[in-house]
Amino acid sequence: MGKSTGFMEYDRIPARVRDPKKRTRDWNEYSLPLPEKDLTIQAARCMDCGVPFCSVGMEIKNGVSGCPLNNLIPEWNDAVYRGEWEEALQLLLKTNNFPEFTGRVCPAPCEGACTVAISEPAVGIKSIEKEIIDYGFRSGLIKPEPPLKRTGKRIAIIGSGPAGLACADQLNKAGHYVTVFEKSDRIGGLLMYGIPTMKLEKESVTRRVNLMAAEGVEFVTGVNAGVDIKMADLKQDFDAIVLATGASKARDVNIEGRDATGIHFAVPYLTQSIKDNLENEGKQTLSAKGKKVVIIGGGDTGADCVATALRQGASSIHQFGHRGKLPELRTNQNPWPEYPHIFQMDYAHVEAEAVLGADPREYLISTVAFEKDQDGRLTGLHTIQVDHDIENHKYTEIPGTERFFEADMVLIAAGFAGATDDIFTNFNVAKTNRHTIDAAKGFYRTNEEAVFACGDARYGQSLVVTAIAEGREAAREVDFYLMDETFLP
Ligand SMILES: Cc1cc2nc3c(=O)[nH]c(=O)nc-3n(C[C@H](O)[C@H](O)[C@H](O)COP(=O)(O)OP(=O)(O)OC[C@H]3O[C@@H](n4cnc5c(N)ncnc54)[C@H](O)[C@@H]3O)c2cc1C
Ligand code: SF4
Repeated sequence: MGKSTGFMEYDRIPARVRDPKKRTRDWNEYSLPLPEKDLTIQAARCMDCGVPFCSVGMEIKNGVSGCPLNNLIPEWNDAVYRGEWEEALQLLLKTNNFPEFTGRVCPAPCEGACTVAISEPAVGIKSIEKEIIDYGFRSGLIKPEPPLKRTGKRIAIIGSGPAGLACADQLNKAGHYVTVFEKSDRIGGLLMYGIPTMKLEKESVTRRVNLMAAEGVEFVTGVNAGVDIKMADLKQDFDAIVLATGASKARDVNIEGRDATGIHFAVPYLTQSIKDNLENEGKQTLSAKGKKVVIIGGGDTGADCVATALRQGASSIHQFGHRGKLPELRTNQNPWPEYPHIFQMDYAHVEAEAVLGADPREYLISTVAFEKDQDGRLTGLHTIQVDHDIENHKYTEIPGTERFFEADMVLIAAGFAGATDDIFTNFNVAKTNRHTIDAAKGFYRTNEEAVFACGDARYGQSLVVTAIAEGREAAREVDFYLMDETFLP
């Protein structure tokens, strides 16, 4: 380990970010690199606790604790402390195909499980991960490494999000011919169209895709697999098929006035904004400019809508959440090393406070009806406050707490209800009662011979890190299925 007393000597150095007000005037990434001396101090805070819960990646009470990729965190912290950046990079790449994504967008369940975090702020693991991989790209250490031999086996991956990409990367490394089919016009899944540019610049997605293409992975865009190419044809042309099609069936808010114009689902709204940045010199075609915006959904997707609407120039923003405000500190019901369910200011909330003067979140609020004018245009929302019985998962409306919010744009970010229906019909795969593809964890096999499933399509809407982990594990199973042995990790 780096420094045995580091965790007692040094404080956590928070991730560096751009000024919250200024950064809303552009779409560039909001995070900044940490200087090397700060990173050395961060790495020195790792106490090499012996049982690194940060690396374990287990599920506790349906939440992720520790890194699902089992990243070798104490090992790379030690290498960074010693200034051995190339060694740190090699250690990081052993378990994570795409640290440039996780280092930017991961909510870092590793930090919640860090042993230092029992009594002090956790080691800044995510900042260190980001700097290790950025160093790798900057110094030219990341270059195409095609496999030395090919097996002759052919695999079709359907969907190019982090799960599909990680699966493709691993199977290509094992020497198989891999083709990734994507129905959208760009590769990357939600990394490309979903997660906003200020969190993850799209150049880093294309850089990785180009690298994989140079290593031999074939990418085909604009193909809705199962429709444009039927499953029977895919089965004939490929030895195995992996469904990594995501969980994009959006939850709707089916209440009075839902047909008003001005109500949009979050992901198409975010996608349009990203597309406009990539193709339209930033001119926003579905814009919140000058509008009173209400976002229904208190989660991360809702927060991304806040940040996007701010940059488009919304005149007011409210973000509605069904749940109550989280406590400042862990409660006894949420002990270490569980993921800490505590109050946090996401990047978008900090920005909203800086630009509009207030945190946009409204808690324990339910929308009961949309109001529209005689032309069918949205004018506002009727709401009521609710009581949340956490134990029984029940919400009860509180009479007398009705309110009206003026709005000319509503963004629905109320979560996802699993995989889209076409996947089950077109690929004949069984579904779980969560509307995901039925394929057991650890095996990833569906009811159809030679058809596997991974990522959000199997697991339900989750995280980039979970999707990468699923893609890697599924690749191992596919390799074993095809070769009767596997050397993939
Ligand atoms: C707005 C938003 C923001 C998020 N922010 C974060 C974040 O900051 N951090 C984080 O860790 N997680 C975040 N997530 C969650 C994370 O992005 C997902 O868990 C992850 O991308 C899932 O990866 P995946 O590969 O399983 O699926 P996806 O990324 O959804 O990719 C699936 C791909 O399959 C394609 N596809 C579907 N059907 C077909 C077909 N028939 N033929 C061809 N292609 C098909 C889709 O077009 C899509 O490109 C966010 C999610 C959303 C919606
Ligand atoms: S991928 Fe996420 S959980 Fe794993 S080390 Fe990086 S920030 Fe932590």
